[in-house]
Amino acid sequence: MQVELLLLALAPVFLACVAGEMLYWRRRGRAEVYSWPDTLCNAGLALLHQGADKLAWLLVIPLYQYAYQHYRLWQPPGGWGGTLLLFLAQDFLYYWFHRASHRVRWLWAAHSVHHSSTRLNLSTAFRQSLLYPLAGMWAFWLPLAWLGFTPQQVVAVVLLNLAFQFFVHTQAVPRLGWLEYLFNTPSIHRSHHALNPRYIDHNYAGVLVLWDRLFGSYVVESADEPCRYGTVKPVNSVNPLWVNVVEWRDMLRETLAARGWRARLTLLFGAPEAAERVATQQAADKLTAAAKNPGCQAS
Ligand SMILES: [Zn+2]
Ligand SMILES: [Zn+2]
Repeated sequence: MQVELLLLALAPVFLACVAGEMLYWRRRGRAEVYSWPDTLCNAGLALLHQGADKLAWLLVIPLYQYAYQHYRLWQPPGGWGGTLLLFLAQDFLYYWFHRASHRVRWLWAAHSVHHSSTRLNLSTAFRQSLLYPLAGMWAFWLPLAWLGFTPQQVVAVVLLNLAFQFFVHTQAVPRLGWLEYLFNTPSIHRSHHALNPRYIDHNYAGVLVLWDRLFGSYVVESADEPCRYGTVKPVNSVNPLWVNVVEWRDMLRETLAARGWRARLTLLFGAPEAAERVATQQAADKLTAAAKNPGCQAS
């Protein structure tokens, strides 16, 4: 099997788990955890993402190969030592990719797709962006080639990390005791998907929660404050194509309409909330200018 097809090969397992979770909630009288339009939108996003991902691997695997052949810094150990190092290095890079995806609007334009549903269930894991290759997700794995890992190893570990994360998208599993100290768990990832001020922009872990604890982004889910899911700026659509492009459209429209390079750079690469402030301010400035000079506006 080609390693790029790993997630597709696991699709039957994922679909069986989604069906099982749907039944679980129905039997407990909480069928509303799932809705068909939302779940079908998630499935559509998964298919689009898979297509784009396969194309992107075709382009970036030669790049990883080039970096591996010409710029690798050393030869990692074989066997379990090398595998452990690969896993740790990729999980560390994933943490920074994920953190940057929440703090840099260019990356958020793609990653917001994953967060834009107001529901959270196993099918939410399918919500992935078609435009991750454009955002530059692939660049975060390039250091693994410099570290001496082959492109096939890089692709395999990236996809295994994503496969693990499927299982943390559920409200059916409570806190898991000592596992909360080691791994990204359903409870940890629920708070990551929440937009409540106390939870937002925390818990970026892929597999190990170590990185959040180390770099100060860890938050505990509290029974006193149930998670509210979704994005601060709601998308209100279940059309997978629209969900994929809406934040890119907003970002480009606001950047093109903005005055000054500082504002434009903030709108593209600032934190999403800073970009929001700039966009609001620029729109207000325009209205003020138009009110002062109605003749100009008419022309
Ligand atoms: Zn996220
Ligand atoms: Zn998630």
